[in-house]
Amino acid sequence: MQKKPLILDIKGNSLDDGPGIRTVVFFKGCPLSCVWCHNPESKKAGAEISFDKNECVGCGTCIEVCPENALDRKNPFFIDRTRCTLCNACAEACPSGALSMVGKKIPMGDIVATILKDKPFYKNSNGGVTLSGGEPTLYMDFLSELLQALKDEGIHTLVETCGMFDFESFEKKALPYIDTIYYDIKIFDPDIHQQFCGVKNDRILKNFSKLNTLSAENSFELLARTPLIPNITATEKNLTEIANFLNTQGIGQTRLLAYNPLWHEKNDKIGTHNSFKNDQAMTSWIPNEKLEIYRSIYAKKGILTE
Ligand code: SF4
Ligand code: SF4
Repeated sequence: MQKKPLILDIKGNSLDDGPGIRTVVFFKGCPLSCVWCHNPESKKAGAEISFDKNECVGCGTCIEVCPENALDRKNPFFIDRTRCTLCNACAEACPSGALSMVGKKIPMGDIVATILKDKPFYKNSNGGVTLSGGEPTLYMDFLSELLQALKDEGIHTLVETCGMFDFESFEKKALPYIDTIYYDIKIFDPDIHQQFCGVKNDRILKNFSKLNTLSAENSFELLARTPLIPNITATEKNLTEIANFLNTQGIGQTRLLAYNPLWHEKNDKIGTHNSFKNDQAMTSWIPNEKLEIYRSIYAKKGILTE
């Protein structure tokens, strides 16, 4: 029996995660480890305590209740995670919500019931449900069961994936119940992919090719996306290589995801060291002139960018 995922959040009324008004289910756990991850709390499959220093009122209650003496104001991340046993006492006692447990086990029935409350919004907006992460395909059996339950309700389904999955299992268990796939192709060079995402990308590119072939014959939609990360993915070399790859696949449209420098703060909350914190390019938004240059790389290859 495959492990069940922890759920980070179920967010309703989203206008940014696919067509129409959508409910987004965020799974916790990812086979990649991208240094710039915008949801760093989704990387680890297990639960974590998050500390938001901006919400803390300095009452000291958490320090008093912690049975492991894991909390210390002198610690730059406040929590010594080598001592913390995730007992949740501090989060329960915290009056301001500065401390919270990230990742919850939610039974399938409760997830579906939460989603169904939003169903009336999907109909009028051509919306539906987006399964995101982390990486939903890490839990293929659970994903399959959830997708089937949504299709039984006639709900449009969209899966956001990094592409690092067993293709046979995905094709059999998930694909029959998916309407749209948002598929991230972040870095083309396998060694640079490994350097910044923790794994090589051979499987990701192969899986994309297979899905692309199937999408021409089947009824699901496939959209490649590339997050623009200064000096990592957003380089002329990388974007040209990705555009060339998409050309070989006969793809005429892709999406470039805008860079959001606010991910640095999220790393602090879960106590993750971040070597890019003082990198000037990584702490600013990408200017419009540069975005136009990136778009023109694709345009020259005949690929439209959203
Ligand atoms: S979860 Fe428990 S052990 Fe961890 S810091 Fe909070 S009170 Fe301490
Ligand atoms: S209990 Fe909450 S508000 Fe009080 S010191 Fe701890 S984190 Fe801050």
